[in-house]
Amino acid sequence: MKIRVRYAPSPTGYLHIGGARTALFNYLFAKNNKGDFIVRIEDTDLERNIKDGISSQLDNLRWMGIIPDETIDLPGKYGPYRQTERLNIYIKYALMLIKEKKAYYCFCTIQYLDKMRNKQKAKNILAFQYDGTCLKLEQSIIANNLKNKIPYAIRIKIPANKSYKIKDLVRGDVEFNSVDLGDYIIIKSNGVATYNFAVVIDDHLMEISHVFRGEEHLSNTPKQLVIYQYFNWKIPIFAHLTLIVNNERKKLSKRDGSVMQFIHQYRDEGYLPEAIFNFIALLGWSSHEEKEIYSKEQLIKLFTPKYLSKAPSMFDPEKLVWMNNYYIKKLNVEQYLALVTPFIKKKYDWNSKTSEWWKEVLLIYQSQLEYGRQINELVTLFFKSNYKLDAEAKVFLNNNDCKLVCTTFINKVILCENWTSDNIKKIINEVKTKTNINGKLLFMPIRIISTGQMHGPDLISTIKLLGYNTIINNLRLNFKIKEK
Ligand code: GLU
Repeated sequence: MKIRVRYAPSPTGYLHIGGARTALFNYLFAKNNKGDFIVRIEDTDLERNIKDGISSQLDNLRWMGIIPDETIDLPGKYGPYRQTERLNIYIKYALMLIKEKKAYYCFCTIQYLDKMRNKQKAKNILAFQYDGTCLKLEQSIIANNLKNKIPYAIRIKIPANKSYKIKDLVRGDVEFNSVDLGDYIIIKSNGVATYNFAVVIDDHLMEISHVFRGEEHLSNTPKQLVIYQYFNWKIPIFAHLTLIVNNERKKLSKRDGSVMQFIHQYRDEGYLPEAIFNFIALLGWSSHEEKEIYSKEQLIKLFTPKYLSKAPSMFDPEKLVWMNNYYIKKLNVEQYLALVTPFIKKKYDWNSKTSEWWKEVLLIYQSQLEYGRQINELVTLFFKSNYKLDAEAKVFLNNNDCKLVCTTFINKVILCENWTSDNIKKIINEVKTKTNINGKLLFMPIRIISTGQMHGPDLISTIKLLGYNTIINNLRLNFKIKEK
């Protein structure tokens, strides 16, 4: 059997971490089995679709490296891949069910249905179920209504008290009963199929073998099983992925503003696709090896549904930052500059310095950079016209050793003719010999008076890149300096 899986987003929102995880697991499973990964757009909820919903899903998946084999702009032989282009197909299958008395026309008006709903509420029935009024209509009335173009929906006729079983790859045996389902609408009065119907028709026609999707769809599964049985179609193997939760163990929700939830946000902040791919692969799956870093190829090779987690997985933004920094450190010079330069160009005047200077400044931050945009904050050191020491720095400098280091350093800097890294290194060495002070007590005072900060990137490079004049200005802020 050819493995064919699909990610089936509704373009009612942008690509979310949860959606990306579903897409990724489908993708890894397909590629592990040399199968096909399909992206089908489930856009039948017309009112809720958003303008850039489809492009956000597809562009961001591809950016992450989750590449569809078949989708709307890369059709295979199972198209179209957008449900609103398949509406006639759904109607055709719905009519087949009507013919076999497995579905029926429903002419009930909204007002009538509201009454029905209120009556059930009054009886404390919380989950509304259609009461079957139109199931009892005589054939002649139906024919007449259709002739008179009375609006109708099509409802599935749910068998009474029938049980359905699946072997879910995450949850094992799951059993459902049809009593809870109610005759739900499969084609709405505007002629558009509903999700639970269209999904089955499409998964069947597209020869989908496995369905990995979020656990919020588990309750839809029996509604879909009824349709598979009615058509006598092979049921795909399901895997309902457990929730992703935040560090308060609450479901990661699109409305939670405290964590970035959408893939484009990470992309915009300068996260690397390899890091996002690796990180999301570990949300609810593990290789059972003692490591966290995996390339795409390794993940494809290792992925097995056997190791899908049965417990919710925790989304830990700190781990993502750590992982992104790991991948940033691995970039070669060209790749690294390509990541950070666009951020710099948006915020700083690139032409105010030479490219060589920028390159050196940017590179001193590579090992600590967590995400691309952060570079803008880090380089502010090079664009401050003056600085004020904070209390901690002042306390640190306030002893004779530090003062001696500072004055000795200043006196040597003033005499320096050629501002190169080698000469700066030499000056610091001379300060060390002259004062007989070394280690932190040597470097920290020099760092503080040169840069105004107690921490920062490589000291010699920083001093060199700040430039002679800036260093003199900075030193002057805290010490009296005689002119050369
Ligand atoms: N369109 C559904 C969603 O966006 C897909 C559900 C499924 O995979 O069956 O949640």
